[in-house]
Amino acid sequence: MKKIVALILATLMMASAAAGCSSAPAASQAASAAESKAAESAAASTAAASDVNVGVCIYKFDDTFMTGVRNNMTAQAGTLGAKLDIVDSQNKQPTQNEQVDTFITKGVTALAINAVDRTAAAPLVEKAKAASLPVVFLNREPEADVMKSYDKVWYVGAKAEQSGTMSGEIIADYFKANKTADKNGDGKVQYVMLQGEPGHQDATLRTQYSVQAIKDAGFEPVKLAADTAMWDKVKATDLMNTFISSQGLDKIEAVLANNDDMALGAIEALKAQGYNKGDKTKYIPVVGVDATAPALAAMADGSLLGTVLNDGENQGKATVNIAVAAAQGKEITKDSVGYEITDGKYVWIPYVKVTAENYKQFQK
Ligand code: BGC
Ligand code: CA
Repeated sequence: MKKIVALILATLMMASAAAGCSSAPAASQAASAAESKAAESAAASTAAASDVNVGVCIYKFDDTFMTGVRNNMTAQAGTLGAKLDIVDSQNKQPTQNEQVDTFITKGVTALAINAVDRTAAAPLVEKAKAASLPVVFLNREPEADVMKSYDKVWYVGAKAEQSGTMSGEIIADYFKANKTADKNGDGKVQYVMLQGEPGHQDATLRTQYSVQAIKDAGFEPVKLAADTAMWDKVKATDLMNTFISSQGLDKIEAVLANNDDMALGAIEALKAQGYNKGDKTKYIPVVGVDATAPALAAMADGSLLGTVLNDGENQGKATVNIAVAAAQGKEITKDSVGYEITDGKYVWIPYVKVTAENYKQFQK
């Protein structure tokens, strides 16, 4: 009995569904048929994501921030169902050039390159162009004329000026809120600066704009010492030790670092002198950039004043989305890749200021 009722119900439902369909006006039916035809032919002219193989070069695997970007790229390729072949350029440009040659010989359908030397990107673009392959650069921005030399080249990064300004503002806000931060009471901020790799746009601009932000907030910045620690934590500890012995701990009022690894390296040196261990009587404000997991942990324990989120998740996603869409033969637009495209070639992922008030929301 129950079975018969179910059967009648099912038959009724099917009949009413069919009636609903046939009651649609003939014109709209024709229109939707045309639409689906168009969609079919668009799909036919673009390759499937599963046929895409992106050759990826990372300037060196042993870089905290780029490791995060790399992992996000792998995850995004998985989501899209595309293949990625990622290699470590070991911080050597000649090695990277050979890797690109090998990728091309192997028949990859797109390239994504984190250049070792951003001023040496021209030959890489030439190689891509000769093989008619799309190429997406990331994190290390090629020069404008190189970007213009080929229509299938894109760049995914972040505006370094913005991160510099934000890190300088964090220091200035600390000086506004804590009168004793100005140890010698001269109204000026005596700072030391740990810089990234020379020639990297993020090193140059973060240095410049962080100091400018301190000035704009009404404090005169006084540079006690500045040098490169090559984005590296261990080198930064050594450099900070040098600064401590040349300047004296009591003279240094702020430590600015171009990235978190160097901020954390500087903190190691400070801790060895009994500073920044949670006791605010022996404390020098330190600021970094990236918002890496260890930096957020250092904010939680009070040794790091603040940082700036360098959004590696979206940088990785945008890079893979563009490489895959371009390899599929799609036009690169906000609709096809999910990110705003500036001047037809650039994706700028915004930075976010990370302070005691909001750092918890960035912890994963
Ligand atoms: C990051 C650094 C990283 C560098 C690598 C920068 O954007 O802030 O942590 O070492 O990129 O190129
Ligand atoms: Ca001072």
